[in-house]
Amino acid sequence: MESENTFSNLGLTEATLKVLEKKGFEKPTPIQEKTIPIILNTDLNLIGQAQTGTGKTAAFGLPVIEKIDNGGNHVKVLILSPTRELAIQVSDEMNTFVGSRKLRVATLYGGASIGEQLRRLRKGVDIVVGTPGRLLDHIRRGSLMLGKLDFLILDEADEMLNMGFVEDIEEIMSKTPESKRTLLFSATMPEQIKRMVKKYIPEYEMIAVKNKTLTTDLTSQIYFEVRRTEKFDALSRIIDVERDFYGIVFCRTRLDVDEVNEKLLSRGYSADGLHGDISQSGREKIYARFKKKRINILVATDVAARGLDVQDLTHVINYSIPQDPEAYIHRIGRTGRAGKQGTAITFITPGEYRQFTQIQRIAKTKIEKQELPKVEELLGIKKDSILAELSIISEKEVGDNYLNLASSLLENSDPQIVIANLIKKAYNDELNENNYQELAKKRNINVDKAGTTRLFVGLGKKDDMTPPKLVKFIRENVKLRDSNIDKVQVFDEFSFVTVPFSEAEELLQIFKTKGKGRKPLIEKAQKTTGRSKPRDKSNDRYKDKYKDKSRSKSRDRRDKFKR
Ligand code: ADP
Ligand code: MG
Repeated sequence: MESENTFSNLGLTEATLKVLEKKGFEKPTPIQEKTIPIILNTDLNLIGQAQTGTGKTAAFGLPVIEKIDNGGNHVKVLILSPTRELAIQVSDEMNTFVGSRKLRVATLYGGASIGEQLRRLRKGVDIVVGTPGRLLDHIRRGSLMLGKLDFLILDEADEMLNMGFVEDIEEIMSKTPESKRTLLFSATMPEQIKRMVKKYIPEYEMIAVKNKTLTTDLTSQIYFEVRRTEKFDALSRIIDVERDFYGIVFCRTRLDVDEVNEKLLSRGYSADGLHGDISQSGREKIYARFKKKRINILVATDVAARGLDVQDLTHVINYSIPQDPEAYIHRIGRTGRAGKQGTAITFITPGEYRQFTQIQRIAKTKIEKQELPKVEELLGIKKDSILAELSIISEKEVGDNYLNLASSLLENSDPQIVIANLIKKAYNDELNENNYQELAKKRNINVDKAGTTRLFVGLGKKDDMTPPKLVKFIRENVKLRDSNIDKVQVFDEFSFVTVPFSEAEELLQIFKTKGKGRKPLIEKAQKTTGRSKPRDKSNDRYKDKYKDKSRSKSRDRRDKFKR
C-alpha cells in the first residue's frame, strides 16, 4: 500500500523539514511514518521493529530532537549502540538532524581516549551516543550523569544482545530516572529482547513493519561470496531465478564485458555489452534496445553505463567490485528508483574482501550476505517457466504441420508419455541437475575462515592483560563473537590475536587514527615476529595516553579490562 504521508504532516517543525530537504529525504519510510507521531504526540515508550536500512535512526532521531529543549546543562538523550561504527553513524546522523539548533552530541565508545571524552562531557552535552561498555565506564566514574534523562534509546537492540551486552544494558537502565521514556529499535525481535522489554519497559507501543512493505525507495543490498571461477555461474543463476530480471552487470574492464556478454549470449540470454571502445552511435543503439527492453541484460563498464538513463532496473550486479565507494553508490543508485524496489548484488571473492569492507565503511551502507539460490530452487523455477511457456502457445502459433504430427502421435500412444518425452527432449539440458554445480557447497571455504589476520597488540602481561581481557577488549571495538577471536597469545610486553579479515581491517583503522604519529596500539603482526619484538618506546607513550594518565595505574587497568 502506497502511503501519501509526508514529513510535514507527521508533525515535524519547519526547522526539521529544512534539514530533511537538505539531506534529500523526500518522504518518510514506513517505520518513520508510524513512530514519529507516537514519539511526538504521546508519552509512551516505544518498541520499533523494521529491517536494516529502513531509516530507524531518523524514526527516533527526528521526533526526539523536536521533543527535547536545549536548556540546562544535562544529558537529555542517551542512545546505546552495539559498535563503534554504528555509534558514529548514528551520531553523525543525529548531528545533521540537529541542524542549527543548539544541541550538542557526543559519541562515546571503547578504545578511544577517555580523557577527550571526559573533557567533552564536562563541557556539557545534550545527546550522548555510545557503546554500552564505555558508557558504563563513564557512569561508574561519575562523568556521565543520567538523573535528568528524557529519552533512553536502545538502537539495534538485537545486535547489542548478540554481542553479550545484556548486563551492561541492564546496569545502564538502572541508572536512568523512572520518568524517562524508553525507545527500543531492532531489526529482529528474539525472545531475549521480549524478555527485556517485559522486565524493564512499561506501557509501550509496539510498531513492527513487515519486510514486504518496507524500503519503497531503498535498494536492498546484498553480497555473495564467490570464487572468481564461479562468478559466471552465480550470475546466470541469479538471472534464472529472477523471472523479470532487467539489469546491468557491471564489469571493470572491456575484456570482462566482452567475455561475460559472449558467455551470456551463448547460453541463450538476451544481453548486450557496452564499453568505451564501442562507437557513440553503436552505444546509442544499445541504450535504445535496453531501454525498450529488447534485451534485459546489459553488461557494462562504469564509464559506458554513465550515459544510460534508465529508472526501473530490477537489478544491479557488481560482477567486478566497484573501484571505490563513489562508484558503488553510483552503480546501485540505478535500481530502486521511482518507488520501485531494486536489488544490488555484489560478488566478492576472498581477495576483494578488504576493498569491500572499505566500500561498506565509507559508503556507510550495510550490505547483507546471502546464499546463492540452490540448484533445487532453480530447478523448481525452471519447471514453472517451462509450464508457463508451453501452456500459452496457441493453435495458430504451432502451425498445421506440427498439429498433424501431434494427432498421429496421439492415435497410438498415451498423451502423458508423449508429452513427457517431448519435454525431456526439448528441455533436458535445462532440467538436468548435473548441469548445475552446487555453488553453495564449494563456497564454504570462505573468507571468514581463510581470511583472517594476525594482529599485534601493544599491551601485555605487564599491563595486566590476559587472554579473556584481550578478547573483551577486541569485542569492545568491533562486532565479533568470541569464537571468531582466535589464537590469543599474551606475552610480557605485547599480545597477539587472530581475527577475521574485515574486523582486523576495522581495528587497524580505528587504532591508526588514534595514535597521531605514534605507533598504533594494534597493528598487523609481522610474519617474522619472534618473541623478541623490540620494545618500542613511542608505544609506551601511547600506552600512557591510553590509560588516561590515571593516578592509580592499577585501578585504571582494572577498569579497562575487568568487565
Ligand atoms: P536502519 O537503522 O533501519 O538500518 P538507517 O537509519 O541507518 O537504517 O538508514 C539507512 C539509510 O537510509 C541512511 O543512509 C539514511 O540517511 C537513509 N534514510 C533514512 N530515512 C530516509 C528517508 N525517509 N528517505 C531517504 N533516505 C532515508
Ligand atoms: Mg540503525
